[in-house]
Amino acid sequence: MSKVRIVIAGPRGRMGIEAVKLVDETEQFELVGVIDRLNDGEPFQGRDIYTYTNIEQCFQETKPDVLIDLTTPESGKIHTRIALEYGVRPVVGTTGFSEEDLKELTQLAEEKQIGAIIAPNFAVGAVLMMKFAQMAAKYFQDVEIIEMHHDQKLDAPSGTGVKTAEMISEVRESKKQGHPNEKETMTGARGAEMDGIRIHSVRLPGLVAHQEVMFGGEGQTLKIRHDSYNRASFMSGVKLCVETVMKLDMLVYGLENIME
Ligand code: NAP
Repeated sequence: MSKVRIVIAGPRGRMGIEAVKLVDETEQFELVGVIDRLNDGEPFQGRDIYTYTNIEQCFQETKPDVLIDLTTPESGKIHTRIALEYGVRPVVGTTGFSEEDLKELTQLAEEKQIGAIIAPNFAVGAVLMMKFAQMAAKYFQDVEIIEMHHDQKLDAPSGTGVKTAEMISEVRESKKQGHPNEKETMTGARGAEMDGIRIHSVRLPGLVAHQEVMFGGEGQTLKIRHDSYNRASFMSGVKLCVETVMKLDMLVYGLENIME
């Protein structure tokens, strides 16, 4: 079986460094080029492959099957569009795409009949945590989400926290939790609220990405927790996406939609 030819955009970034390692360590993957803002035309890490600042030139010269994008929302969007136009299947971990961006890229993938995956959370364990929480929510109506991240994170609550609340809402009968006369004596004490579900955001140096979903019932609690301790935790999801994108002919958003 021929190897999957891969280009990585953002190879100097924290996620990009891990993605290069993943490709190096995976027998059926081959790195054929990288896209960076620096070092145009230089051999990448002294190898027989090159760094490109121009993505079109990269695609023309390296003829990849897959683009792994781990950059910024502005660049990621442009890279994904160009990849689809060149028949290169994008696997995008970059976060922060708008609804409009997703709609446009979904349409383009459909026109080109080509696979694409955009996954804001590559951690397989985080996806399972969300699925298990959704299963439990059928039996426990009372639930609070505590999401914990490093203190450089800009958005709160996290996308995964909101997504978890949405998935729980699909199966849980709507309910305002806590005492009906509950009053916050300090603003924010009870966290954010979505459909009666409370979401609490912790931000501390030393943390990476963690979430606990806590259910309460008569005389019992159930806690479902996931911890990402480093960025390597995301790479099994990247691997699964690269393998799966080769078999798709449309854009899929979210790792949960390619996991059984
Ligand atoms: P990072 O360390 O800041 O790395 C981003 C890299 O992208 C930097 O090296 C940056 O280069 C490069 N870059 C920016 N624009 C570029 C362009 N036009 N062409 C080529 N390279 C470009 O960030 P990170 O932690 O690796 O995260 C990268 C992205 O993945 C973010 O959107 C983050 O939210 C997301 N993320 C996703 C997951 C997931 O599970 N899906 C997990 C963690 C992070 P400069 O140094 O020149 O700016």
